[in-house]
Amino acid sequence: MKEKCGVAGIYLRPSEHEVFQAARLAYFALYSLQHRGQESAGIAVADGVRIDARKGMGLVAEVFNEEDLRSLTGHIACAHALYSTSGAATADHIQPFVIRSKLGGIALAHNGNLVNYEQLKEFLEETGSTFLSHSDTEVIVKLIAKSYKKGLERALTDTIQMIKGSFALVVMTENALIGARDPNGIRPLCLGKLHNGWMLASESCAVDAVGGEFVRDISPGEIVIINDDGVLSFEFGERTAKRTCIFEYVYFARPDSVLDTIPVQEARLRMGAVLARENPVDADVVLGVPDSGLGAAMGYSAASGIPYVMGIVKNKYIGRTFIAPTQDTREKMVFVKHNALKSDVAGKRVIIIDDSIVRGTTCKRLVQVLRNAGAREVHFRISSPPVRFPCYFGIDTPCRAELISSAHTEAEVRDEIGADSLAFISIDGMFEALRSISPKTYGYCKGCFTGEYPIPFPGELNGRRL
Ligand code: 5GP
Ligand code: MG
Repeated sequence: MKEKCGVAGIYLRPSEHEVFQAARLAYFALYSLQHRGQESAGIAVADGVRIDARKGMGLVAEVFNEEDLRSLTGHIACAHALYSTSGAATADHIQPFVIRSKLGGIALAHNGNLVNYEQLKEFLEETGSTFLSHSDTEVIVKLIAKSYKKGLERALTDTIQMIKGSFALVVMTENALIGARDPNGIRPLCLGKLHNGWMLASESCAVDAVGGEFVRDISPGEIVIINDDGVLSFEFGERTAKRTCIFEYVYFARPDSVLDTIPVQEARLRMGAVLARENPVDADVVLGVPDSGLGAAMGYSAASGIPYVMGIVKNKYIGRTFIAPTQDTREKMVFVKHNALKSDVAGKRVIIIDDSIVRGTTCKRLVQVLRNAGAREVHFRISSPPVRFPCYFGIDTPCRAELISSAHTEAEVRDEIGADSLAFISIDGMFEALRSISPKTYGYCKGCFTGEYPIPFPGELNGRRL
């Protein structure tokens, strides 16, 4: 099971006269990370003595009511919004995972995906552990618990050296909040300051949401322990090579977040500008597919001088299409989800920009939607290269057989979706866009575009599925 999620943690300085409600801040943080996972949500709290948790299926607003939040007292919170990509969600998978042992309790929220899950699970089972779920996150909690007697720091470093893959972790004990990021920093994690404490979050938009002050990104291979003494940072040994997920900028993150010093919206604007330069076409209007295609469309319009129009309205009350489990439902949902503005597109030559093509479902329907509304020509432009390979690190790209660009040429995809023309940004163009914001040479994981992964996946040869 692959999971791409949002994680958050809150640490408030404990005080004798107040009942602390870290849970409330965690709730708002989760709310602003809802785009990272809509399947389930959970908040665990600690008050120095014990850990309590509330979890459930559904959106953050559906899982917690006022009563739940009031009862979750404590000065530390660890929270998670889950998007499980298997389609078959079960209650056993809802995070944070909480375990209680004689030595103390641990709550853990994980964004990412372990590639050596099977081996670790086998190892743990041989030494007597039993599992309630098929989640790789449970393996992490069990590993920490196993070496807890050596002390928290040792337990964390031991565990983190054993797990391979992508992980942004928020861990909580009765009196500390811990954050960790894998040696490649594939999934994001940042540190924020609150007026009476600290917070951790997948994206900086969560820090803004609770009125915190962004401090910095957690570095690849870094662990931070937050307690009464402040924030203690250390590296867990391994040599790190930054390989952050480029798809966070393409699609996943919210535009108002700044990830690893790059503002997401700025990245999208510049990708759109490069796309316009690489793949120009004569047209009357440019529009973007809401929400993640809008930034690139604005950038394309500005660079090409072709007017930007809204063109498409998206129903706000619909979950992301991928939630629908079958291809049939997915296809129908696109009509419910998007409608064209006839006044913007009728009789016009339209350039429509989306951030990515995965299965090809969305763009095929959108071409129809625009033609139904009277568009004269429909030119599709995509602000990321063709997705040809699966992701092992937590983004919901399906197996290769379902990736339309893995088996089809650009011309075939164009015909399949029914557009007058189709073009993608080049890989170099995408990097150029990011480099133009941050000239520091950042490394990225671009596995979904090239099949080259930062960590070999067991059973793969050169990162390619056999
Ligand atoms: P397609 O319809 O080609 O299968 O998917 C492309 C559309 O899905 C694009 O509009 C893109 O914004 C969105 N998308 C890309 N990656 C993901 C993902 O991992 N999850 C979800 N829910 N949507 C995605
Ligand atoms: Mg989209």
